[in-house]
Amino acid sequence: MICPICRCGHTRPGFASVTLERDLTTLLFKDVPAQVCDNCGEEFIDETTSANLLHAAEAAVRAGVQVELRRYAAA
Ligand SMILES: [Zn+2]
Repeated sequence: MICPICRCGHTRPGFASVTLERDLTTLLFKDVPAQVCDNCGEEFIDETTSANLLHAAEAAVRAGVQVELRRYAAA
C-alpha cells in the first residue's frame, strides 16, 4: 500500500520493534511482523498482531513483570 504518513513511499513486509508500557511494566517485542515504508521507515502493525501484543502485555502486568524483552511469536 501507499504509505499514509509520507504519501510517497510504499510499504513492504518487514519486522518492527514494539515497546509497550503499562503501569510498572515495560515490554519490548522484537521481530514483530509489520509493513514498513521504504521511504520514511514508518512501521504499520495489523490489528491481529497488535491485539496479540496487548494480550501478552496484560498477562505480563498480571504476572508482575517489570521489564522484559521478547521475540514476537504469533499466537
Ligand atoms: Zn512513508
